[in-house]
Amino acid sequence: MQLDPTTLIFINIADLLAMSLALPLVMGLNLSRAASHVRTSLMLKAGAWVLLALTTRLAGQWSEPVLATLALALMSLSHVLIFRALSLWLGPRPMGRLLVVLAVVTPIGFALSFHNYPVRVGWISLTLTGQLLIQARATLLPASDSHSRGGWRYLLFGCLFMMAVLMFFRGVFGAFLPELSPNFTTPSPIIVLTLVAANVALVLGNIALLAAWREEAQQQLRTLVVTDTLTGLLNRNGWAEQASQALRYAQRHGFPLSLLMFDLDHFKRINDTHGHETGDVALAFFGNLLRNSLRAGDVNARLGGEEFCVLLVHADTAAAQAFDQRLRAELAQSAPQAIPCTIDFSTGHALFSGKGETLESLMARADTALYRAKNAGRGQLVTAETPAG
Ligand code: GH3
Ligand code: MG
Ligand code: MG
Repeated sequence: MQLDPTTLIFINIADLLAMSLALPLVMGLNLSRAASHVRTSLMLKAGAWVLLALTTRLAGQWSEPVLATLALALMSLSHVLIFRALSLWLGPRPMGRLLVVLAVVTPIGFALSFHNYPVRVGWISLTLTGQLLIQARATLLPASDSHSRGGWRYLLFGCLFMMAVLMFFRGVFGAFLPELSPNFTTPSPIIVLTLVAANVALVLGNIALLAAWREEAQQQLRTLVVTDTLTGLLNRNGWAEQASQALRYAQRHGFPLSLLMFDLDHFKRINDTHGHETGDVALAFFGNLLRNSLRAGDVNARLGGEEFCVLLVHADTAAAQAFDQRLRAELAQSAPQAIPCTIDFSTGHALFSGKGETLESLMARADTALYRAKNAGRGQLVTAETPAG
């Protein structure tokens, strides 16, 4: 079987164009930044291949180096965009600056060495190999802590790494054995292999990127389900999940855990006096204050209305009372500049008693203590008695 590079290039272009036209239709207009980087990257790649194909018809003309340089610039830019998308999906990735430098010098070096075939091919293969390796590394390292367990990362890594290896060998052949691959359309085994691999990598790479986008959408949906929109804290769903987890952990490791339930005092009056919107601003302000007062591992939530809850890990009664005092001091200090009304709160505290206690019973005890704080005149903390036994 004789595979013809020109046909392969045209198949690549057809695939890329089809994907870059189909993808916006599938993805819709309202894309996350990462997803729109992927979409733009695909369009740039399609543009790059179109230009490369054109150069095969322009051999020897002045426009050949111009179009080929432009193609490389588009290709390099498309790599930078994929890298950016990975950074948005997986958290900061290393070597982004180096990738940008390579993306700039790849086309420049190509243009400057255009009339020296071995140098030119050696140069672009080396710099594109570097670009591909940086992207490949970014798919896996550093390992992302949170949500991404998706197999798409390994698939994308495989595609990019395979392309990097082939690109490297193409560079070696081009630079040292130019007679075996005098130009891009010669049916030398390495060229044919590279083009077939490019097509496979294109298809599988896009499947991986679509899977990443789907994972992102699922993650956003999940976040929405467990988040309170006004304060950005966890809502009741998220609270139940995370607080139960923290409880199990404290039980297993035997460290103290305190639950504090806050209810803003006379909040109805704030709404009545200043309006519901000011009420919302005050709730968001209080939520923010809570969030900023917590340490890693603590859980906080808005349970509904003007009721908030925090679970302090490694906190006994004294630590919980100190936390409450600190929160009151911070509220008194920062509220006057931030909100047009004064707010105060009552707190019910319950210390986790360990075995046999569930989140529900712990919350019920804190709630009773909160009720007592209200009855005792508000603006204070009451600690629930720890159940006997
Ligand atoms: P207490 O000191 O006994 O807690 O008095 P209170 O007025 O805070 O308690 P009550 O339960 O009678 O009223 C709670 C008020 O909180 C009533 C409701 O209008 C207000 N509220 C609940 N959710 C929201 C919200 O999302 N935004 C605003 N602005 N107000 C809310
Ligand atoms: Mg209430
Ligand atoms: Mg209240």
